[in-house]
This record gives sequence, C-alpha cells and structure tokens, in this order.
Amino acid sequence: MFTKQTIRDIDVTNKKILLRADYNVPVEDGRITDDYRIQKSLPTVKYLLDHGAALIICSHLGRPEGVDKKFSLKPVAEPLSHMLKEPVEFAADCVGPEATQVATGLSPGQVLLLENLRFHAEEQADDDGFAKQLADLTGPDGIFVQDGFGVVHRAHASTVAVTKHLPAVAGFLLETEVDTITEAMEHPAKPLLALVGGAKIADKIDVLKRFIDIADTIAIGGAMANTFLAAQGIAVGQSLYDKDQLDQANQIVSAAGKKGTDFIIPSDGVVAHEMKASAKTRVVRFQSDSLKSNDNILDIGPDSAKKIADLVKAAKSVIWNGTMGVTEIKEFAAGTDTVIKALTTDPKPRTLVGGGDTAGYLENRHIVDKFAFVSTGGGASLDLMSGRPLPGVEALRSK
Ligand code: ADP
Ligand code: MG
Repeated sequence: MFTKQTIRDIDVTNKKILLRADYNVPVEDGRITDDYRIQKSLPTVKYLLDHGAALIICSHLGRPEGVDKKFSLKPVAEPLSHMLKEPVEFAADCVGPEATQVATGLSPGQVLLLENLRFHAEEQADDDGFAKQLADLTGPDGIFVQDGFGVVHRAHASTVAVTKHLPAVAGFLLETEVDTITEAMEHPAKPLLALVGGAKIADKIDVLKRFIDIADTIAIGGAMANTFLAAQGIAVGQSLYDKDQLDQANQIVSAAGKKGTDFIIPSDGVVAHEMKASAKTRVVRFQSDSLKSNDNILDIGPDSAKKIADLVKAAKSVIWNGTMGVTEIKEFAAGTDTVIKALTTDPKPRTLVGGGDTAGYLENRHIVDKFAFVSTGGGASLDLMSGRPLPGVEALRSK
C-alpha cells in the first residue's frame, strides 16, 4: 500500500498550500476540450478547501518553449471554478510580484491558479531557486501537496526540488493511482490479459518484460505489432516500426515462450497507402498475402480483433496500454473499437487503462466510466507498471 504521507496525515487548517495538479488538458481555441484530469483533481481540492486551507494550484500544460499563450492555463480557471462553485483567481506568471501579491492576500477557502510552470525553463531543469520561489508563495507554515500523477515520473522543480523547501505530502489522486496500478500489477485477478499497442516499442519493453512474469496472455497491436511482424521476417512495407528493436522483439517472444505466457501477434491488418481519412483500405492476412512496398499497416485486422475480443472474454482482469491502430482516423479505429466493445460489454473483466493516447481516445468517445480505472498518467503509469521509481513520489514524506 501507499507508503507516503497524504493530506490525511497533516494538519492543513489555516495553511497555505502549494498544490501541484496535472491540468495538462487538451485546449482548442482557448477552450478545453476534455476535463477528465480536472474532474479527477476535485476530491483533493475540495478536501483541502473544506478543511480551511487556501490553495495555490500550479501545473504545466503542453510543451511550450518559453512563454507561449497557446499553452496558457487560463482556460482551466473557469471550468475549475464552475466545478468547485467557488471563484478561482488566476496569476499570469507562476512566480514574481503578481503571484506573490495574490497569494499573500488569500484567505482560507480561496483558490489561486498559477500560469503554466513550463513558461520557465527552470521547471524542467529541477531548478532549486525556482522551486524556492514557488514554495515561498505559501508564506510561513506552507505545505506542498503533490497530486499531479501524470508528472511524478519526472524530476522537475514542482515534483522534486520543491519538496526540499516545504513539508511535502500526497493528494488523493496520486495515492489512488499508485495504489490501483500497483495492486493491478501485483495481485491481478487471473487470468490476466495484457493488451499492449501504440507506437513506441522502446518505451514499452520494460513493461512487456513485467507482463511476461505476471500475465497469462499478452496481445500486441498498434505500430508495436509491426515491429514484432518485421522481426519475424514479414515485409511490413512503409509501416511505422522500430528498426532498432527487432532483436529485442524476438527476445521478448522467446522469453514469453519459456515462461509459458501466450504471446499473440496480429494475423491480419488494415493497410492503406496513406494515413489519412477516406484512404482506400484493404485487409491483409500476413501468412497468405503480402504487403506492397508502399503499404502501411494502420490497424489490426478483423480476425485479430475478434481473437483479442475472445481473449478479453476469457480474462478476469485486463491491463491495457496503447491503441490497436491509428484511432485518430476513423478508418483505422475499428480494431480498437472491437476490443473496446468486448472490454465494456457484460460480463466484462476488470480493466485498467494506462497511456495518454489510449485514455484520450476513451475520453473523446465519452466511455471512460465504462472502465474500472483509467489512469490520468501516460508515462507515469508506464514507469510504475515497469517497476521504475517515480522521483516525484520518492521525494514525499514517508508515513
Ligand atoms: P499511449 O499514449 O496510449 O501509451 P502511444 O503513445 O504508444 O500510446 O501510441 C499511440 C499512438 O500510436 C497513436 O497516436 C496512434 O495513432 C499510433 N498508432 C497506433 N497504431 C499505429 C500504426 N499501426 N501505425 C502508426 N501509428 C499507430
Ligand atoms: Mg502517447
């Protein structure tokens, strides 16, 4: 179980709290298009306000290089205020005179949201002086609360350096994410099916290795599958795959064989010359048909999707990371949709979803609540599943 102190373990009444949230939400034309991460932050925010704390909330959004209004956190203030039914003040810089002035004037129960931390390069450099400036916003007796699960795999000023300047504890979202993912990996209901897709095999090697140990079956999809196909000598045309990982892919298949973990690679795929909507598509069976040199495998084929759906039905728990195809384009989303249907139709396994793009697709389809748990963290959930330490968690006070 969670070994770090949380906001339950510390007196927050009449304190000013620097709360690191993960409000890295999609924004289009100054409006947020998905508020899942904001919703998920509410239990912590409400608990702290109900217990008489004043909140200074900080986050990053996107990957700005310096100050870039496209990545402003301002669009978060209004929906957050609406959800809390409380006003939310906004400071146009996360440090400096304006932030200091508003923070100093905060009373218990009031909320200040700071502008994007990554407008300062010092944030990602884990800069101590910058962290102290953030910490100083809380005045005497301040507390730091880490609730941005999506960033704790990074050692940044707002995840690590800041913990040297304030008592640092976890919020409820961080605790729930760590406990739920750890439990799903360490004590899964069996049989466990691990479903791994998406783009980058290199990022997912470690998690595949862990799945070989804990899962009954591993099924591969997405561009990830192309690497395994290529490693078996199947011509994949122009498909996206990881040329540097062919040996690694073969090693994984043989390690799974030794351990007795079923390892399922797609037998068919949806291919097109171009990765665009309304592209002309066809289904290729890899054993009997061959790909042309300008073909791209962009989704798993219907036989493979059916096979995975059957595996889902036989599983008691599923851990899923990475889409089965290019879900951004309708023509290449069918494989993922078939799998989703199996995952969400009763009787259904207990499913944990990790991965930013995978979760994003479920959010777009408004079906997040059909799953047992959809993580707010992409890289962080992968690192946790892989057994890598999370610096932003390690840095918090132990129980
Ligand atoms: P996650 O963020 O869920 O961990 P990844 O970032 O690894 O997933 O990969 C998601 C991306 O993989 C999506 O943008 C999707 O379009 C892409 N993808 C999936 N299958 C393919 C494919 N066959 N060819 C090219 N890209 C793919
Ligand atoms: Mg991704």
